[in-house]
Amino acid sequence: MRASLKLIIEFCHFWFGVVFMDLLIKNGKVVWPDVTLEADLAIDAGKIIGIGSGDVFPKADRVVDAGGNFVVPGGIDPHVHMHVGFMGATTLDEFDTGTMAAAIGGTTTVIDFAFQAKGKLPMESIEARRKEADGKVCIDYTLHSNLTEGNDASIAQIPKIIEMGIPSFKFFMVYRKEELMIDDGNLIPIMEEIKKHGGLAGCHTENVSIIEFLQEQAIKKGNKSPIYHALTRPPINEAEALNRALYISKYLDSAFYDYHLSVKEGVELIRQARKEGFPAYCETTTHYLTLEEDMYKRPDGLNFICSPPLRTRDHIEELWRGLADGTISAVASDQAAFTLEHKKMGKDSFNKVPNGLPGMEFRVPLMFSEGVQKGRISVNRMAAVTSTNVAKIFGLYPKKGAIEIGSDADLVILDPKIKKKITIDDCPYKIDWTPFEGIELQGSPVMTISKGKIIAENGKFVGKTGEGEFVKGKISEEILKRPAA
Ligand SMILES: [Zn+2]
Repeated sequence: MRASLKLIIEFCHFWFGVVFMDLLIKNGKVVWPDVTLEADLAIDAGKIIGIGSGDVFPKADRVVDAGGNFVVPGGIDPHVHMHVGFMGATTLDEFDTGTMAAAIGGTTTVIDFAFQAKGKLPMESIEARRKEADGKVCIDYTLHSNLTEGNDASIAQIPKIIEMGIPSFKFFMVYRKEELMIDDGNLIPIMEEIKKHGGLAGCHTENVSIIEFLQEQAIKKGNKSPIYHALTRPPINEAEALNRALYISKYLDSAFYDYHLSVKEGVELIRQARKEGFPAYCETTTHYLTLEEDMYKRPDGLNFICSPPLRTRDHIEELWRGLADGTISAVASDQAAFTLEHKKMGKDSFNKVPNGLPGMEFRVPLMFSEGVQKGRISVNRMAAVTSTNVAKIFGLYPKKGAIEIGSDADLVILDPKIKKKITIDDCPYKIDWTPFEGIELQGSPVMTISKGKIIAENGKFVGKTGEGEFVKGKISEEILKRPAA
């Protein structure tokens, strides 16, 4: 049905007005969340203007032969932290080098965060973050507003933030001592205000009291090695906080997004909420899908410290099931490029290690290789969780995340035959390690196209700094009312 409709309707559509077009991508297997079709794509002025057979399209300035490889929607990473300070260190990537790496790895849009700085209003932090990014980013980007204070002045800015095109928010239910936490009392009026103005609230769900108690106990007993990072943040810590956040959201009838889900109990909570028709969304990350808790027992275990921590195999398998059955909507990298030197700050105790892992350049390749090639998800589901769903949830669709007439021509050509081991040799932000070292990839992006321009080819960035723009989001009623992505 989809096939014939596409070929008949969208084909004729474009005929009018265009004599020469910028780019033709031919011989691709084009991937949508519901179907894969052999089709050619006509691109002009940064947009997709035709989907069908290249024979009937006007002459193109440039023709790219996809050679039977997959053409997938450009990746949208819903959760990255470029050049951000945390726990006494600042991550290595800048908005230019970070987005170059993302582009090489098949990502054409990133969503970073504007952390509300202590004593400042959220809007000031958004403006500061935009100043850092604008003119530097190589691909399009937008922001989540990360509120760290629940005072009246901060809440009063919520409508304005949503109106300016930043409809998604994040709150920490942890990091009390770091003064980043929003407590449950404040969560309620904040969520109410977000709901009232068409925004989407989301949390980093961990139970701060459980962590603080277990950490204190561990340190007192001299248990300071990296494995205690995981042992002091057990699954119940995350599942309980998610349950609480979901309960509050349901009580307020306010849609909810869970950032970086890592536990099987959480998958079940989201699954049940969605079954009831409640608009609960969650993302997991590539590291929770591929790396086990045992990494903390290695001599270099401290490098793998991130929060929530890496989990055991049973959690990993349930995350894959949740991705396959539609419970988990999105996959993020949670990019936080701390170097080996930064990680050494915690060589004497796990709780001093800056939390976070680099790897946004490997998100799409890992999802293809570990997910599609290993038979855990279809290539169509991969397109949904790495791109289309993210665009829908955060209100960027159909400008982003869609291979449709009129959408931005953000596309990735992915060759399933390429075999390579993950290394960090060509990483533009010059990181000195990767948590994914040694993983064999079967299949990789060979070309990334952003707004109709080729910006990465065969592992090299060939685009221009500063050509990315801030994109405004507006979340649809459908997403806010029921689980619709
Ligand atoms: Zn994060």
